[in-house]
Amino acid sequence: MIDLYADIRFQLKTDVFAYSDIVEVTVGDYLIRVIAKEAGMRGLACVTTELANEAARRHDAAPTAAAALAQSLTGGALMGALLKVQQRIALKLEGSGPVGKILVESDAYGRLRGYVGNPDLNLPLVNGQPNIGGAVGDIGKLTVVRDLKLKEPVESVVPLQTGTIDADLTFFLNQSEQVLSAVEIGVLTDESGQVTAAAGFLVQALPPYDEKTIQQMIARVQDLPHIEKLLRDGERPEDMLALIFTGVAYEVLEKRELRYECTCSRERSEKALVNLGREGLQNLLDTEGEAVVNCQFCGEQYLFDADDLELILAGMP
Ligand SMILES: [Zn+2]
Repeated sequence: MIDLYADIRFQLKTDVFAYSDIVEVTVGDYLIRVIAKEAGMRGLACVTTELANEAARRHDAAPTAAAALAQSLTGGALMGALLKVQQRIALKLEGSGPVGKILVESDAYGRLRGYVGNPDLNLPLVNGQPNIGGAVGDIGKLTVVRDLKLKEPVESVVPLQTGTIDADLTFFLNQSEQVLSAVEIGVLTDESGQVTAAAGFLVQALPPYDEKTIQQMIARVQDLPHIEKLLRDGERPEDMLALIFTGVAYEVLEKRELRYECTCSRERSEKALVNLGREGLQNLLDTEGEAVVNCQFCGEQYLFDADDLELILAGMP
C-alpha cells in the first residue's frame, strides 16, 4: 500500500479548497472566539468531543491512542482558528513514547483530520486520566507547518515540553512566535476508553496590551481549576471564556462549527501514483497487478486495477 500523505509538504502544496461557508451552529463541536480590545487579549475555546470520537472510530484507536489523538486534534482546532481564510496548519508530534507520530491538520474553516502512528496503544490510567504524556513521551519535537499561501510552507520546530500538546503549543507560541499565550486542553474518557469530553482554550495577548491586565489574566488562567474539572462540571467553551475573562470587557466575534473531514479523493490518489514515476508505477503493475492507495487520515482506500494503471501510464510523459 502507498501512503498518500507520506509527505506533508506535498500534501499542503497540492490541496484545494472547496469550502467557504462558515455556518453558525449550536450543537456538536464548535469553537468560540472572543476579543477583549481594551485589555489587549484574545481568547478561543472549543469543544471537540464528537470529532475526537470520529477520529478514534476511523482509526479504530485504543483508548490511550484515541485520547492522545483527541488532544492533538483539539490543539489543531485552536491553532487553526488563528489562521486567515485559505490558510492551513499541520501539527506533527514526534515523541519518544510508544504512541508514535501524531499528525493533525486543520484549516481556517474548522475542518480537521489526523492520525496516530500506533492506534493500538493502551496504557493504564494515571489518576483516572489517560496517560497522554506517557504515550507521546517528553523527548522529541513538535513541528508546526503553516501553509500561509506563500511560495513555501512556513515550518517551525520546537522541542517537546511534557508530551502534552497544550504545554508544547504554549511553548511554541511563547518562544517561537514570541506571543504571550496560554493553551489548555482536556480530554475525559470513560471506563471503556471512549472520549466523553474533549475541549480546550487558548488565550493570547494582542499588542499593544496593558501589562497589568495581562499579568492578572495569566494569574487567573493559572488559578483556574484543571480543565478536566471544568469539563466534568459540564462547563462549555463560552463558560470557560467567561471564567477567564471575569471582570474584563470582551466581545464574542464568532462561533464556528468544527468537524472531522478528509480532503482525499480518487484524483489526488491518482496524482500520488503519478508521483511514483513511470518506472515505479510500471513496477507496481508488474508485481502487484493493481494499486491500493490508502488514506492515512480517514482510512479510505482507493483501488486502481491493472486497466486503471495502464491508463495512467499511457497518460504519463
Ligand atoms: Zn482521506
